[in-house]
Amino acid sequence: MDTTPFERHESQVRGYCRAYPTVFASASNAHQVDEDGKRYIDFFAGAGVLNFGHNDPAMKEAIIAFLQADGVAHSLDTHTTAKRDFIERFHEVVLAPRGMDHRMQFMGPTGSNAVEAALKLARRTTGRREVVAFTHGFHGMTLGSLAATANDAFRQWAGVPLENVVRLPFETAPGGAEALEAYRAALQDPSSGLRPPAAFLVETVQAEGGVNVASAEWLVRVQEVAHEVGALLVVDDIQAGIGRTGSYFSFDGMGLDPDIIVLAKGLGGFGTPIAMTLNRPEVDDHWAPGAHTGTFRGQGISFTAGRVALDHFTDDRLMSAVRAKGEVMASRLSELARTLGDERWEVRGRGMMQALDTGDGDLAREVQREAFERGLLIGPCGPEGRVLKLIPPLTIEDEVLAEGLDLLEQALAAAGG
Ligand code: PMP
Repeated sequence: MDTTPFERHESQVRGYCRAYPTVFASASNAHQVDEDGKRYIDFFAGAGVLNFGHNDPAMKEAIIAFLQADGVAHSLDTHTTAKRDFIERFHEVVLAPRGMDHRMQFMGPTGSNAVEAALKLARRTTGRREVVAFTHGFHGMTLGSLAATANDAFRQWAGVPLENVVRLPFETAPGGAEALEAYRAALQDPSSGLRPPAAFLVETVQAEGGVNVASAEWLVRVQEVAHEVGALLVVDDIQAGIGRTGSYFSFDGMGLDPDIIVLAKGLGGFGTPIAMTLNRPEVDDHWAPGAHTGTFRGQGISFTAGRVALDHFTDDRLMSAVRAKGEVMASRLSELARTLGDERWEVRGRGMMQALDTGDGDLAREVQREAFERGLLIGPCGPEGRVLKLIPPLTIEDEVLAEGLDLLEQALAAAGG
């Protein structure tokens, strides 16, 4: 039987999800166009990487200038102008205005690499092994980060042990708030046999886990408990950070001061890979040269685009637009839940990470398929994949956002929602 080029190539990549059966050829801001010229609105944005849209003109120009000047494309640990300029700009735009004296470490290109580094650093700093992570958390697919990830199917598939992870219910899970206090009390009771942990690893909004939003109060309590028991607070801001929730860090203004922050995804701005840990100076002292190496952790193109991306945070225009568009998304989803849904449907989110929990994985997948047919890219997440997560580029135009929400409504109606 004849196969299409799509089937020939994609069928060899068995690890892919293959949710969007076409071949994309070009992209601009919140649109992608496939080889047949069909246009799609992108509510997936490369799994939250393309916060500034596809092919941002200013970043594109900077990358072209970098190439024309024969910039150092790969630098590993050596210093380069692209790396220096990124570091200086990051300091100027992100750290200095917040009075933060965290140090930057560039890790391998992915979020998982940076989570691994954060876990190692926490263990090294405290001399302890256990890490507290939370139900429905997602921290990556490498063995250490996967152990901290709550998805049981992913872990079972790879036979990942939980020896060094204590998993507590997230705030929004049943018994969430009480579990933290019970764990704290148990740690203080020698008869529990519990060893104090090296770190508490937490997302402020659990993105892959179904868009579960923690309150500032609970997060501050996690920080207090962590410090009380001599552990570090590690915030995984890989998906919720870099403007997604309406401020650079998702925890801005909450009274949190994490010992380690992990960033990746949107950090390179253009979809160009780069990941980083930010750690307090006291923690930083525990790094030894060469203690955590990796070949790909100094990409000139990523530093160049990432530096330009920081321009978005020098005034409040983008962040106030994120807050306004987030409200549009949330209110439209609430309306859809009211008109099309049943009592299981719930709307959750912060800023421009908004979600509709349909309570039904098959329905969510059907909506994803119907949306694709209509020219909308959207990805399910959460338990059984039942949660439709909307993470368009932060720069999506108002009318494109409205059009995408219309397509979602049609897809929900067609899927029998
Ligand atoms: N942490 C969070 C919160 C994430 O959302 C992800 C990716 N979905 C990761 C870690 C892992 O990042 P990467 O896929 O780049 O390894």
